[in-house]
Parts: sequence; structure tokens; C-alpha cells
Amino acid sequence: MAQDELKGKLIVQKYGGSSVANVERLENAASRIISYVRKKNKVVVVVSAMGDTTDELIDLAKKINPNPSEREMDMLISTGEQISCSLLAMAIHKKRKEAISFTGPQVGIITDTFHTQAKVLKIETERIKKELGEGKIVIVAGFQGLSTNAEITTLGRGGSDLSAVALAVALEADACEIYTDVEGIYTADPRIVPEAKKVKYITFDEMLELASRGAQVMHTRAVEVAKKFNVPLHVRSSFSKKEGTIIMENAPYIEEAVVRGAALTENEAKVTLCNLPDKPGIAAHIFNELASKNINVDMIVQNVSHEKMTDISFTTPKKDLVKTLKISKRISEKIGAGEIISDEDIAKVSVVGVGMKSHSGVAAKCFSALARNKINIDMISTSEISIACVVKKEAGKKALKVLHKAFKLDIIK
Ligand code: ADP
Ligand code: ASP
Ligand code: MG
Repeated sequence: MAQDELKGKLIVQKYGGSSVANVERLENAASRIISYVRKKNKVVVVVSAMGDTTDELIDLAKKINPNPSEREMDMLISTGEQISCSLLAMAIHKKRKEAISFTGPQVGIITDTFHTQAKVLKIETERIKKELGEGKIVIVAGFQGLSTNAEITTLGRGGSDLSAVALAVALEADACEIYTDVEGIYTADPRIVPEAKKVKYITFDEMLELASRGAQVMHTRAVEVAKKFNVPLHVRSSFSKKEGTIIMENAPYIEEAVVRGAALTENEAKVTLCNLPDKPGIAAHIFNELASKNINVDMIVQNVSHEKMTDISFTTPKKDLVKTLKISKRISEKIGAGEIISDEDIAKVSVVGVGMKSHSGVAAKCFSALARNKINIDMISTSEISIACVVKKEAGKKALKVLHKAFKLDIIK
């Protein structure tokens, strides 16, 4: 919905780290929020930690203990958002409007018990509704909740997006706006591909795929929840008044592009379990164990077996590598398998588009473009609407640019 159209509505707005990075930006955010309140809207604001605060807190922890307890990590990193939400309330007070800040636990954001990667189970909205009813702007610290064990949890990196979407669902908000440091969703990360174009619309499915394949502009689970409850999201810049991108179910595309966007991630590692017995149940055993520890596994490749032995390779987030290797080692010893190899010098480049469902030759075009540029592909995975290739880390950015150009994403309107 255009900014001018929002009158007398309930709006959830999320301001990302760079949108509240310093005093001036906090004051800008305060002015924008007040401009909505002046139009008789009720506003619930979700904030991220200021600038690089979360990274700095993580670095600090690692200096003290390279393998810190996840519970203590959550105690630590949840503090970043508490700083920005209270400061934003103060900035609004200075402009003579009523606002009140809360932590996630204070407003009943209840999660499961998986520290650093918790899922939102429910939100008890009474307190927020009461404060809104009293005419206050409600500011909620993003990225955090209270587990069913009464512990502070965080929702995974970038999780303030999820806090905002979950609140929009629970409050049945009329609009959910995600303010960030780019003007919307682009055909690729504009910091890596300067020719990338902003798209006006993108479907939930395409955004989900892009996010899970490295487009950090939206948190994957936030898009998942928005899709599930059909909450359109308006991603836009906190530095301008321009309309951004609407993420929605049936995007009104004028023309169906085969590829809507491309993404890159350098945050994954490849793990290979060598010389596994090639018999039923082995893969199930490995991946069940990893799943039970909440470790996401993406690409899985099993080699042709030789003499009833086989190798299995998969990718996993680098942050989970230590845990993954520990579990893999334990399983390998138990079943009498061979060595375990890991490689952190990989990148995964992907192209995404709903139009792929009805077009053939996308994979061939993708592989040819990489081959012409002498980029070797290590692993491949495809879905109905995406193709992903693992390449060497040093080739990742080039591969993204090559695919962006090959699919003419720099000239879409
Ligand atoms: P915030 O702190 O506001 O949550 P993030 O850093 O999480 O912001 O996300 C915004 C960043 O996402 C942008 O600065 C951009 O570099 C990156 N990004 C990656 N892929 C895309 C894309 N397809 N479109 C727009 N931004 C993208
Ligand atoms: N501050 C958290 C992070 O940096 C959450 C967020 O920014 O959404 O991951
Ligand atoms: Mg973010």
C-alpha cells in the first residue's frame, strides 16, 4: 500500500540495523513513525540492533570463549535490540509523542527452546493492544523471545524481520513495512552487482528461495510466515520516501521473467563423509541426527558406490560446522565409516524464478555461462523454481555477475 493511502490503519514497521545505526538515523526513524501516527494510524515498531552491534557482541564473546554456550550467547546478543528500542522511544518522546519500548519477552513473544535459532510459537498480544489503545507507539526489540522454559532466545541472524512479520500476523495488522538500507528487493545484491535492478513485485515463493540462497535482505523464516498467513510485505528504504518492493502471493507481473533474481552465499561449508557402507538407513541415520540438533542441510550428493562403499557430501551453514563435524564423527565411528572432510572455501550461486516451471533450458544456460567464464561447478541442486551451483569461494562473486548478465537481469523493467 502506498504511504499516503495508509490512514487509520494498524501498521507494523521494522527498522533494520543500518536504519537505527546512529543518533541521526534514530531521529529520522522517529520522524517517519510520527508522520504515520499523524495520519491516525496505530504503529507497532520492531527494531534491530544499531549498526554492527550484534557482530561486535559475537566477536566479544569469541574473544572470551571460542565455543560459548548458546544460552549465554542469547543472553548477550539479545541486548543489542534492547538498546535501540529504548533509544528510539526516547527520540519519539523528544518529539512530544507517546511511545513505550519492550523486550520480546515483555510482550509475550513465546518461542521454542532452540537457543540462537528459536522458532516463534505464539504471541500474547494483550500488552501491546493495551498500550496501542492508550494512544502509544509500541516499540518492540526484534530478534528475541521467551522460550517455553522461560529463557531468553534469539531467532537466528536477521531475525528481526521475523519478529515484525509474526507481530503483523498476531495483531492482524493492515500493513507490514520493512525499512532497510536499500530501496527494495533487487535482481541481485546491489553491493556485489551494481547493475542489479529493483523489482516492483516479487512472489513469496521467489523471495523465499532467494532468501534461503543468500539474499540477506529478508530473513527466510519471515518470508515463510508471511506466505503462510498471506501478509504482503513492503520492503523499502529508510532513507527515502520512494515505494519499494511488494512481496506477495500473486505478484501482478506484466511479463513473466524466467529468472527473477540471483543470489550468492559464502556462509556455507561442504562436508563429505567418506567410505560409508552403501546400505539402507545410513543416510536417514546421519540426517536425522543433524535435524535433531536443528542443523540445516542443503545440497546432498551421494557418489556412485564402489565395493558397497559410498561417499555422501552435503552443505551446511558455517556457523554449524563444528557441531556438524562432531555429530558426523560420532556416527562415522559407530558405523565403521572412513574419514570426514570439510571445505569452507566454497560459495553457492543460485538463480530463481517462477517462470522456470514452464521453461526448459535454464539449467543448460546457467552451466554454459559459468563454463564460458571458466568457473568450475562442484555441486548442483535444482528445485521447481531455482538452480544452485557450488563453486570455489574465490569464484563466487564473479559467478553471480556472470549469471546476472546471462539471464539479462540488468535490463528487466
Ligand atoms: P537490515 O539491517 O535492514 O535488516 P540487511 O543487511 O539484513 O539489512 O539487508 C539489507 C542488505 O541485503 C542490503 O544492504 C544488500 O546488500 C543485501 N542484499 C542481498 N541481496 C539483496 C537483494 N536481492 N536485494 C536487495 N538487497 C540485497
Ligand atoms: N541484530 C540481529 C542480527 O544482526 C537481528 C537483525 O538484525 O534482524 O542478526
Ligand atoms: Mg536484516
